[in-house]
Amino acid sequence: MGLLVNDVNTALAESFDEIVGWRRYMHQYPELSFKEEKTALFIKEKLLSFGLEVKTNIGGYGLVGILKGGQPGKTIALRADFDALPIHDEKEVPYQSKNPGVMHACGHDGHTAALLGTAKALSGFREQLKGNVVFIFQPAEETPPGGAKFMVEEGVLDGVDYVFGAHLDSQTPVGKVTTGKGYQMAAVDKFAITIQGKGGHGARPHDAVDSIVIASEIVNSLQKIVSRSVDPLKSAVVTIGVFQAGSAFNVIADKAVLEGTVRTFDAAVRKQVEERIRSIVDGIVSAFGATASIDYLNGYPALYNHPEETETVRGLLVEEFSEENVAEMEPSMGAEDFSYFLLEKPGTYFRAGSQNEDEATHYPHHHPKFDIDERALLNIGRSFVRIVAHYLV
Ligand code: MN
Repeated sequence: MGLLVNDVNTALAESFDEIVGWRRYMHQYPELSFKEEKTALFIKEKLLSFGLEVKTNIGGYGLVGILKGGQPGKTIALRADFDALPIHDEKEVPYQSKNPGVMHACGHDGHTAALLGTAKALSGFREQLKGNVVFIFQPAEETPPGGAKFMVEEGVLDGVDYVFGAHLDSQTPVGKVTTGKGYQMAAVDKFAITIQGKGGHGARPHDAVDSIVIASEIVNSLQKIVSRSVDPLKSAVVTIGVFQAGSAFNVIADKAVLEGTVRTFDAAVRKQVEERIRSIVDGIVSAFGATASIDYLNGYPALYNHPEETETVRGLLVEEFSEENVAEMEPSMGAEDFSYFLLEKPGTYFRAGSQNEDEATHYPHHHPKFDIDERALLNIGRSFVRIVAHYLV
């Protein structure tokens, strides 16, 4: 095993300039979620040039490269995403985005370049592999319903035993990686509540049904779901981000619209919060003689890192980077549709630090000046190589 890891890592390191070139090329030509046609073509050409079997148009612009090992064994999937964001690139670098208003501000260009590099390096050692590697390139991570769901529905994980994914992390120094068991990112749901009262003269409340007063009761009561209904040892957020009603100071508004988001980890809590929202809204509007409609959209499920595989990967990363460079991941209420893959197959999602002394690499993800220390791409590759060597050698 040691031999294969060293040999593949040497091949990977030899491709470093090429990997950086791929990343910078994609950085200059970013494409928004569900519109990544040219990026998919770019990835396809690279995979074919490594001699991999390629399948395209899986759940949209999704594609895979398949590396069949010389001997039978397990099949593991490694995933990268490749969509960009509707942000104008404010960096002054030679590889600045050439698509105005579109930018790789989350590092997905880096994920894809790192996975391409991994595929290229491993392709030279296929005879030594016991089993297969499926390199999954997923579009549309940034925009629900997302690309992962559709790829899974089209069977991208059929025959796969384990699935692994990585994300760059501008808040962690390059050279360090983070892992964590269990729920690491939240389920994200979104809702809109339309309260229909009865408009009227501001001086004649007895002839009207005031949608603003009713909506206010609802806003306040929804805040009690987390404090009074959810198990205090579990996490949940209920946020109202939109409250729209009224048009004149002396008119009672007939209609009010509330929009908000719910973030949870536990699937039962997720369901519980939705049920509580529905019953609180129904109860309050009926008590005040109004009606309401609720548009409730379930977004990405929570990301759950399987404990056994996370423990295994943590051990492998310690071997690769040493104990002091492997830290605990901090769970966040953000979302990531890699969660769909982990609902189907055991595996884990980890992060690789991409920050150095240069301030340019310190911006948070989705910032218009976001950038990375590109050595982080090799670290993602080395992590994947370790994982492959563990499961397939
Ligand atoms: Mn991302």
